[in-house]
Amino acid sequence: MKIRDIQTAVIEANYDWTIVKVVTDEGIVGYGECFFAPGLTRTIQELKHILIGQDGRDIDRICRLLREAGVTAGSGTGGIVFHAVAGIESALWDAYAKWLDVPLFRLFGGAFRKRIRIYADCHAGEGLSSLSSICTPRIPWWMSETGETVHFYEIHMRAHGGLSEEAKELPDPSAYAERAKQVKEMGYTALKFDVDIPNPYMRDEFNRCLDNREVDLIAGLVESVRNAVGNDVDIAIDCHWRFSSESAIRLAEAIAPYRLLWLEDPVPPDSIEALERVTDYSPVPIATGENHYTRQQFHDLIVRGGVHIVSPDFQKTGLLEGKRIADLAETFTVPIAPHNISSPIGTMASAHLCASIPNFLVLEHHGIDVPFWEELAIGWDGAIINNGYIELSDDKPGIGIELNEEIAYQYRRKDEPFFDRV
Ligand code: MG
Repeated sequence: MKIRDIQTAVIEANYDWTIVKVVTDEGIVGYGECFFAPGLTRTIQELKHILIGQDGRDIDRICRLLREAGVTAGSGTGGIVFHAVAGIESALWDAYAKWLDVPLFRLFGGAFRKRIRIYADCHAGEGLSSLSSICTPRIPWWMSETGETVHFYEIHMRAHGGLSEEAKELPDPSAYAERAKQVKEMGYTALKFDVDIPNPYMRDEFNRCLDNREVDLIAGLVESVRNAVGNDVDIAIDCHWRFSSESAIRLAEAIAPYRLLWLEDPVPPDSIEALERVTDYSPVPIATGENHYTRQQFHDLIVRGGVHIVSPDFQKTGLLEGKRIADLAETFTVPIAPHNISSPIGTMASAHLCASIPNFLVLEHHGIDVPFWEELAIGWDGAIINNGYIELSDDKPGIGIELNEEIAYQYRRKDEPFFDRV
């Protein structure tokens, strides 16, 4: 099964969903997805000449070669080359499993479970919001009045400085509660909200310190969500690395009565000591890992950082490294709750890996507000996510779906290649 071609397409959704298509000499095509990054498709094209002619079944060896090619570009331990390789790797696994005519989970040791529990990311309570490849807000071209993508860097920064109209208003706990109830009615048994939100109590954009009024505000939002869904739905909250360790500990103490599943990314990802201070004193389980890439980095998070739940993103780490990270965490009885912002392509690849992980807890779904998320998949009967679960089976080889390229083309990023279309 020799690799004949590597093609890419980018779908402009709530994020840039970057899809890799591997074409083989046996007519088998595999799809994979990368976590977004600026210049990502160019990076994949730069790697292409290493791939052409390789036996596409030698996946671990090929990925080692590709990552080593990124070492001198500063990408030896993470970043854009890892994102590129993760998408290529996932496409190779899909093609290889199709070649063997088995579902992907069979190649990672088989299934501990075929019903994969999914949690819904509810963002900060509002509907669809979209971020560019450098994480600034935008209106996708297919939603904007002009038919062009509209970017909002200035407004975004003001919001975090407490200066925008948005930041002058207090977030409404009843809106969070309403959103939580909707998601529960969709069948989800776990959900997550962002709590690092613009608010009138912010005193400084940069010092990471939470005012006591902000702590009370967040605790009020969490209380409202807990009261709305009861104790049979798990709740997580995300802080996006914004806080100091002492502010994170004060926040954790304030929300402890609401029995959260986890508090995510409280402190900057590059300070293992800050994480250690939080995990030492937090009465709420701490999850982190979406900005880490290798088993060595996760070893540090677990052993030195004392993290309670690891949350790698398999569209960054790659699937096989994701399995190794999960196995490492298992030796410390640390559960894994993978981060996922993908289209159905990345989500299905992640779901297959989760089937094969004993210490799997729950997989993220970040696309509940994207109107065409389900439409992007073909070859699946009904909705992929049903009542908060993805049900895998032995009937479908590879990741179990194909990309609907016509729908993908309707929502493509217009300044990017779309596979081999000219
Ligand atoms: Mg997060």
